Amino acid sequence: MGRRDAVQVILEVVAECRRLEPRLIVSYEPGWETRGNGTSANYEGGIVHHTASASSLTRPFPTQTILRDGRVGLSGPLCNFAGPACTVDAPRLHVMSANPANHAGASGGKSMGPLPVTSLFNPRVLGLEIDYAGSVPMLAGQLRVAHVWAKAAAKVVGGGDINRVRAHAETSVTGKWDVGYANGKTYDMAAFRRDAANLTATPPDPLGEIIDMAWYRDREDFENMMNRAAMCRTPADRVSKTGGDWPYDRIANAEAHARAAAQTAAEVKAAVAKLSAPAPAAAAADAATVAAALAQDREFIAALAEATAIAMDRRARDGDPATGPVS
Ligand SMILES: [Zn+2]
Repeated sequence: MGRRDAVQVILEVVAECRRLEPRLIVSYEPGWETRGNGTSANYEGGIVHHTASASSLTRPFPTQTILRDGRVGLSGPLCNFAGPACTVDAPRLHVMSANPANHAGASGGKSMGPLPVTSLFNPRVLGLEIDYAGSVPMLAGQLRVAHVWAKAAAKVVGGGDINRVRAHAETSVTGKWDVGYANGKTYDMAAFRRDAANLTATPPDPLGEIIDMAWYRDREDFENMMNRAAMCRTPADRVSKTGGDWPYDRIANAEAHARAAAQTAAEVKAAVAKLSAPAPAAAAADAATVAAALAQDREFIAALAEATAIAMDRRARDGDPATGPVS
């Protein structure tokens, strides 16, 4: 049942993760498409690890270089995906390598589920390295990402069987205890899998998610995109001034929507803020206002969200032109 189309597998896992968690910020280690340990993919499951490096929101990804290049005695890459420290509101997933990575060693541990017992396990399983110490719990944002990734990986390479995603502690034959929440203590993986399987893809809430994501959180990105689009008067401009790889037709169309939605979004957000006011009557009136505004401008907001998703995808893939790839 294994899948050998490694790059496509990665892209499908990312897409499924985004479907499950629209807020997910995905970044890519340059060269991820060809990176690997030299063996060929035959993916049928996934393994969740901790890196054993202390991380924090101010130092979210201390193991990035080691996961890419390896360490003394173990050549890289050491994972296919990584989970930097992050919040639930801005969850992060980093793509490290499409091809098999040196993360799982031989299999045959105490709880293999349906995964195979083999001395050559890495080609069979995608590896997610959550970057945290393991002697403490991972951050809530990282746990969210781990659940999302587990469900996505199970769908893409495991025929939807969540039991095909396991902790390293379950498959290791050398006494690994990751993923841990305390020294030597492994997360309850039955509960982990249950929580992952029970995730449902929630459509973004127009009030909370779409407006915040599309307009407020990524406003700088969006305005930058609009400015670039404004420079383009002709199709030739799109090539000469931007490299021609952006879908400028859609962006240009979204520009008009964006200007209208800016006004609407401000009004809606103000109304939402009032919803927390204690007076029930006022809240009800405001709710009606919000509903009316949303019905009227849903199309604008959707266009705005789409344009912003394009910008976010580009930023995740290529990074900011000024600062390089997101790490
Ligand atoms: Zn491990």
